[in-house]
Amino acid sequence: MRRKFVAGNWKMYKTPSEAETLAGDLKSAIGALNGAEMVVCPPYTALDRVNRVIQGSNIRLGAQDLHWEDQGAYTGKISHDMLKDVGVSHVIIGHSEQRTYFHETNETVNKKTVKALSSGLTPIVCVGETLDEREAGRMHDVVQSHVRGGYAGISKADALKTIIAYEPVWAIGTGKTATPEQAQEVHAFIRGLLKEMYDAEVAESLRILYGGSVKPDNAGELFSQPDIDGGLIGGAALKAPDFKAIVEAAS
Ligand code: PEP
Repeated sequence: MRRKFVAGNWKMYKTPSEAETLAGDLKSAIGALNGAEMVVCPPYTALDRVNRVIQGSNIRLGAQDLHWEDQGAYTGKISHDMLKDVGVSHVIIGHSEQRTYFHETNETVNKKTVKALSSGLTPIVCVGETLDEREAGRMHDVVQSHVRGGYAGISKADALKTIIAYEPVWAIGTGKTATPEQAQEVHAFIRGLLKEMYDAEVAESLRILYGGSVKPDNAGELFSQPDIDGGLIGGAALKAPDFKAIVEAAS
């Protein structure tokens, strides 16, 4: 039985002070729940302050990216040690906004995933097609290349420590949600791929989250699909009552 998992991606929203307030609201609202695993991913500048606020609760801390090198002359980047030092346990890798705007490729996703695993961070590896790709009938190919590329060379033992987020790009921040059936179909496809790449144990144990305009009113139906193990939540993660309702729908 896979435990449900809900992560909030705060993107480039919230100053450290605003993030502290939101984290405090979340701690009061959901900090003591222990149904679904809960992670919040604030911007880097807010990680330390959010970490202090969520201490003593069941909310864990995630980052929105990391660099694959340990340290060095990489202006603007952040390393695994820097993240772990402020309490980060999870990291989003390959988000479609990184792929679209910041030249993220399957190769860089792979390097980041390898580094996260070797440093003890749990990668949340994002995959998903654009609307053009879906309409051109290339959805399965694209998702397959994201999964195979992201996991290239990763052992079964390491793969078991990861989480996948299926996020159709056309559903992110647009208010257009994949129907539960559309999402379930791709989740089942990803499980089939994992079985081919690894084995039935990996296919059955990995959590596959859905992301793309998940809201309190659609979360329950999405999360009740057999292969959807929770969500990666953007907009609705910025409102404590909405995130609470989504976590409850997963619990
Ligand atoms: C996301 O940021 O990964 C996301 C799914 O955003 P939203 O929920 O706003 O579509």
